[in-house]
Amino acid sequence: KLSNRLMAVAGYVNHLKSFADIGSDHAYLPSYLCLTNPSIHAVAGEIVEGPFQAARKQVKESKLESRIDVRKGSGLEVIKPHEVEGITIAGMGGALIASILEEGKEKLEGVQRLVLQPNNSAWSVRIWLLENKWKLIDEDILIENEKFYEILVAEPGNDQERYEKDREKKLMLGPHLIKDPSQVFIEKWMSEKQNWERVLKALKQGKEQESLIQRKAQIEMKLQFVQEVLTNV
Ligand code: SAM
Repeated sequence: KLSNRLMAVAGYVNHLKSFADIGSDHAYLPSYLCLTNPSIHAVAGEIVEGPFQAARKQVKESKLESRIDVRKGSGLEVIKPHEVEGITIAGMGGALIASILEEGKEKLEGVQRLVLQPNNSAWSVRIWLLENKWKLIDEDILIENEKFYEILVAEPGNDQERYEKDREKKLMLGPHLIKDPSQVFIEKWMSEKQNWERVLKALKQGKEQESLIQRKAQIEMKLQFVQEVLTNV
């Protein structure tokens, strides 16, 4: 059975004819989608030998060799431009996801949808999407095994207008997620807020060094964004 996290990612690509799952590990996501949707084809990309072999084994055991092509390589180098309609990248840090997209930019030609699930720093992904003309069309947040996960769904398009107001706040919290804050969203930011308050308290007891002053100001700004959103719910 697929995790709730990957199930949520799957829900955003299951209408497509083809997609590439980058950093596929055991190829659970493409296997699940191909078993439940007879018209979908996938590429499973993996850079590390162990997970690459695990993906091949999984695909063979599921008898999906004709529909899932397991390829070894870094990021988007495993696909050609216009080869797939969608790309999923899940279970990695936000900065790594953004660097995979940046390095493989030319392979994004013809891609209609990106579904990205950063384990942290969703901010890095949102800013990359904005600066590279990908429109954030939906977001989701869920909790599994006591960890929070955000899912970002983007399609080609200019998204500048969305960020004209409250840019930093939206990049941090998610423009869709703040519109109608779910219980999980509130829990995540309450918990982040508590962490920052602890850090801030410790910093305030320390010496007034320049770097610490900056760090304090940053945390205070983040706290204010979260405070604003939480007081409106
Ligand atoms: N996508 C699966 C999921 O969400 O459960 C697996 C996540 S796993 C934590 C991250 C995988 O990405 C690892 O198997 C790792 O080898 C792979 N990976 C890391 N950097 C990569 C890159 N540049 N290109 C392809 N795969 C990469």
